[in-house]
Amino acid sequence: MKKTDLRRGFLIDIEGVLVRDKRYEPIAGAVPWLTALREAGTPFCLVSNNTTHRPAELIGDLVAAGFPVTEDHLVGALDLGRRWLQERGRQRIMWLGTAGLAGYWAEMGFELVTGGACEAVVLGANAELTVGDLDQALGAVLEQGADVVCLHRNPFFLDAEGQRRLGPGAWAAALEAVGGTGAVITVGKPSEKIYNEAIKRIGVAPTEALFISDDPVNDLVTAGQLGMTTAFVLSGKHPDHEILGSLAEENWPDIICNSLADLEGPADCS
Ligand SMILES: [Mg+2]
Repeated sequence: MKKTDLRRGFLIDIEGVLVRDKRYEPIAGAVPWLTALREAGTPFCLVSNNTTHRPAELIGDLVAAGFPVTEDHLVGALDLGRRWLQERGRQRIMWLGTAGLAGYWAEMGFELVTGGACEAVVLGANAELTVGDLDQALGAVLEQGADVVCLHRNPFFLDAEGQRRLGPGAWAAALEAVGGTGAVITVGKPSEKIYNEAIKRIGVAPTEALFISDDPVNDLVTAGQLGMTTAFVLSGKHPDHEILGSLAEENWPDIICNSLADLEGPADCS
């Protein structure tokens, strides 16, 4: 697909682009870059697979770090997962993501179970997850037809110490392999669901949008396939472009740069 790189709207990953990792320290130059974008009135939203913070907390941490963002700027996997479950009447869920979000699900009206009747097993990033926790889900998946809802399928993530940890993608593959009868769905990147929601939010065509991420495999392939221009920044989980060797050339990003500060803003304004 011929891309025009109009940059009329921006879709921006958070971790590795705006902030370094789960410590939420801003990457050099990211705050002034996003501030200039907002002051120019250019539509943008943050497209996040974060499953460790409530939406309000996530935005609060970004505001505390100096970013000019509100909850309206966030299109997140956690919120999309909640909506998917509610729209299908799934109420009794096994939450295998971080314990810190158990209260979030309860506030949203879900009943959290660790055994017995269960309508959906929900996966998010969880550095504490054990094989024993996954074993607890086997009965629901194999005998009750529980859905496996992956908030995202990143195979790994960087924890608060910057260490690689196995992510929901790896755990989802394990539960998928046991062969239950329920649905196995992903709402976050790389599923098209979150990209379509983000595009709707900023109100521009996919071909007019630039998607910026530190993860060319899990974030940018889908964006490119949907017609967006893609920018790979080296400020996050991949410090060089070696990772591109695992991708077919047609899926390589359109732009590679060190960080957000190296990217030009809207083409119309530059
Ligand atoms: Mg990232």
